[in-house]
Amino acid sequence: MSKDLYVIAEQRDGEIAKVTFELLGEATVLAADLNEKVYAVLMGDKIKDKSQELIEAGADGVIVVEDPMLAEYVTEPYAKALTAVIKNYDPNIVLFGATSIGRDLAPRVAARVHTGLTADCTHLDIDMNKYFDFLHATSTADTASIEKRLGMDDKTLKMTRPAFGGNVMATIRCADYRPQMATVRPGVMKKIAPQAGKQGTVEEFKVEFTAADMNVDIKEVVKDTKKAVDITEAKVLVSGGRGIGSPEFYQELKKVADLLGGEISSSRANVDAGWIERDRQVGQTGKTVRPELYMACGISGAIQHIAGMENSECVIAINKNDTAAIFEVSDLGIVGDVKVIIPKLVEALDKYKA
Ligand code: FAD
Repeated sequence: MSKDLYVIAEQRDGEIAKVTFELLGEATVLAADLNEKVYAVLMGDKIKDKSQELIEAGADGVIVVEDPMLAEYVTEPYAKALTAVIKNYDPNIVLFGATSIGRDLAPRVAARVHTGLTADCTHLDIDMNKYFDFLHATSTADTASIEKRLGMDDKTLKMTRPAFGGNVMATIRCADYRPQMATVRPGVMKKIAPQAGKQGTVEEFKVEFTAADMNVDIKEVVKDTKKAVDITEAKVLVSGGRGIGSPEFYQELKKVADLLGGEISSSRANVDAGWIERDRQVGQTGKTVRPELYMACGISGAIQHIAGMENSECVIAINKNDTAAIFEVSDLGIVGDVKVIIPKLVEALDKYKA
């Protein structure tokens, strides 16, 4: 019977991607409902020493596939390795980060193991309804016997993602096939605090590769030298929308961000207009952020924007239209002209800092 949750541990040059730790955090919550274990699948070359980090982040065990073929991410050998792992261990759930690697790997593997895949999820949950119905009907506390009598679709994974251009949230279940597979957007799930010295199993899994498995010839790996900004890491985001009026006004927003130790970000309207780089876009087709403070300046609050920032701890919105939707998700709303308010805020913060 399909069992346990598997998180694909994404790594580049031996560095585990942040989304992996977020997925491990979420998997531990789901595993508690399922009464199952969490395993990380770590693929690469000479990578085994990263296993403990994964265990401390929530994995009960790590399945390591090491091979020189897996030194750099290439679709075919990675898809072959993961397909072999899934066929051998028969997991119940497999989670990937919705990164360029996860988005490339997950659909190929799903097709090879003949199951479904829900891409770009923003929420995961276990459907416990039938389980609780049964529990009440039998009034027994013997969970093992209940689980024996229930079918495999009685505790399915509910995978929620935006659909129809973000206008509805669709919850999808994969009732008839296993594993249930999902990619999850980085920044959405919460990692748990690492537990230093936590014990877990580390199992090596051997995959037999042939030269034909490497259907790509890597001539050179060129790294982007431009320092990428990761707005998902910022504690404070000062975000500008079309209401700021011009790209130059980002300089004012940057002053606020610098004074508060944060970064500037944007709605899509300004990214599409070429006012700011795409890696600063917040929202459904941008990044999902959860800073301690999110300042929405001249942003209307379209559903696609809100999808990317609604989990921020505190939201302050400045908008001249008092019916703007952004106020519905704000802790503090300021009705007024952003071009008047921001310079005043800079002045006040400057004084406060002095
Ligand atoms: P507008 O909607 O034009 O709002 C400007 C706001 O500024 C208004 O509320 C106005 O009252 C206010 N304003 C104007 N002047 C001032 C002033 N002087 N002072 C104060 N306030 C002022 N959008 C995203 O942001 N992120 C996404 O990831 C994203 N993904 C999308 C995906 C799809 C499939 C689709 C269809 C759309 C997506 N969008 C996304 C676009 C989204 O629907 C909105 O069009 C966009 O968010 C609007 O940006 P905005 O709020 O900056 O501009």
